[in-house]
Amino acid sequence: MYNPKSSKAEEFISHEEILATLDYAEKNKTNTKLIDEILEKAKLRKGLNHREASVLLASELKDKNDEIFALAEQFKKDFYGNRIVLFAPLYLSNYCVNGCTYCPYHAKNKAMPRKKLTQEEIKKEVIALQNMGHKRLAIEAGEDPVNSPIEYILDCIKTIYSIHHKNGAIRRVNVNIAATSVENYKKLADAGIGTYILFQETYNKESYEFLHPTGPKHNYCYHTEAMDRAMEGGIDDVGLGVLFGLESYKYEFAGLLMHAEHLEARFGVGPHTISFPRLKHASDIDPNAFLHGIDDDIFAKIIACTRISTPYTGMIISTRESQACRERVIHYGISQISGASRTSVGGYDHKEREHDSEQFDVSDQRTLDEVVRWLMEMNYIPSFCTACYRAGRTGDRFMDLCKKMQILNCCHPNALLTLKEFLVDYASPETKKVGEALIAREINRIKSEKVKELTNQYLTKISQGERDFRF
Ligand code: SAM
Repeated sequence: MYNPKSSKAEEFISHEEILATLDYAEKNKTNTKLIDEILEKAKLRKGLNHREASVLLASELKDKNDEIFALAEQFKKDFYGNRIVLFAPLYLSNYCVNGCTYCPYHAKNKAMPRKKLTQEEIKKEVIALQNMGHKRLAIEAGEDPVNSPIEYILDCIKTIYSIHHKNGAIRRVNVNIAATSVENYKKLADAGIGTYILFQETYNKESYEFLHPTGPKHNYCYHTEAMDRAMEGGIDDVGLGVLFGLESYKYEFAGLLMHAEHLEARFGVGPHTISFPRLKHASDIDPNAFLHGIDDDIFAKIIACTRISTPYTGMIISTRESQACRERVIHYGISQISGASRTSVGGYDHKEREHDSEQFDVSDQRTLDEVVRWLMEMNYIPSFCTACYRAGRTGDRFMDLCKKMQILNCCHPNALLTLKEFLVDYASPETKKVGEALIAREINRIKSEKVKELTNQYLTKISQGERDFRF
C-alpha cells in the first residue's frame, strides 16, 4: 500500500504505485490538455508530484517538450541565478565487502589495487585540493566495517577540516558513505558534515537485489530507509540520486520523486540535492553489459523535468560527464558540479591519473582553472560558497528561504566573494582577467545599495589578503 508518510521503504516507494504511474504517463504522453494543465501547475513554482512529472517525462509532443526545457531554464535562473557551486570528490578508501555488479570496488575484483589513505596521506590530498582552490569536498569510501569503520571516517573529517595551507581551507565536507545506523549518522552530524549523500542506485527492489547480490548493501529496505535514519540522527541535508543505466529511467525517475515526496511528507523538508550519475566504464565493469543505458537527449530531459518538479532542490552533475554534455545540461537546472576530479584513492597527490584504481573513468579531465574559466565564459559565476551551512541555514531553514527566493540575496554576493578569493589565490592570468570583468559586471546586479557597498568593501579587503567574508 503506497503511503508517502510511512517509514517503511516498500510503502513510500511502492512498486505498484510506480507501475500505475508509468501506465498513466504512457497513456497520457500525447494528451495536450493534461500536459498543458501540468505545465500550468509547474509555473506556480511549488513543484509537481511523481505522477505529473512522469507524464512530462513521457511526453512525445515536440512543442510541449520545448516548453519543459524553457521552463527548466527559467527556474534555474529564478532560484539559482547564474551561480554554479564547485566541489571535488575525495576518495578515502576502496576496500569494500559488497558485491555490487556495476562497481569496480566489488569485493571479488582482484584487478583493483586496494588502498586506504592514512591521515598523513589525507593531508597531502587536501593540500593538493586546496592548492587548486577547492573549498568543498565530497568524501567517498567503499563499505568495509574493518578497514573503514565510522571512527576512521570521523578521523578523516577532523583531519580535513584542520588543514589550512597558505590561504586554503576546506569549509564544507559532504559525505558519501554506505547506509549506516542512526547512531553513526548522529556522529557524522556532530562532526559538522554538510550533506549526507547516498545514491539509491535503483528503486526497483527486484533489480536492486540482483545488482547487489552479496554484502550488507544487498538489503534494499535498509538502504532505502537510510535517509530517514540520517534525518533522525540530526543530519539536516541529504542528497539523493540513482545510477542511471541500471534500470528503466522512467521507473527510476518516478522512484526518485517519490523518495523526495516522502522526505517532505515525513520530515517537512525534501532532499537538499539530487545527483545525476550515469553508469561508466571502470576496472572489471563494462557499461554495455547493462541494458538500460540512456542517451544524452533523455538525460537532458530527466534533468529538465526534475528541475521543474523540485524547484528548491540543488542538482549535481559530476565529471562522469563530458564537457559537451555538462555544457548542455547545466542550463536546465544544474546548480553544482565537480571539477578536476580524481576518482582513485590518493589520486590528487599524483601527477598522472591512476586508471587502474579509478572508481569510474573521468570524462571531463580539465583543471579547476579551466573549468572556472569555461563557466565564466558562459556567463556563470563559479561559486565556492559554503555560507548557508556555516550560518546554520540548513534543512527546513534553507528550504524556507529558498522557497521565498531569499537565498538569491545572499548567495549572489557570496559567490562573488569566493570567486574573488579564487582569482587572487589560484587563478591563471587569463582566468583572472575573465573573472575580474565578470565580478565588475555582476556587482551592478546587486539590488540593495547597502549589500553592494559591503560587497565592494569585502572585495577590496580580499585583494589586501583578508579571507572568508560572507553574508
Ligand atoms: N560505498 C558507498 C555506497 O555504498 O553507497 C558510496 C560510495 S561509491 C564510491 C559512490 C557511487 O559511485 C555509488 O553510489 C555508485 O552510484 C557510483 N558508481 C559505482 N560504480 C560506478 C560506475 N561504474 N560508473 C559510475 N558510477 C558508479
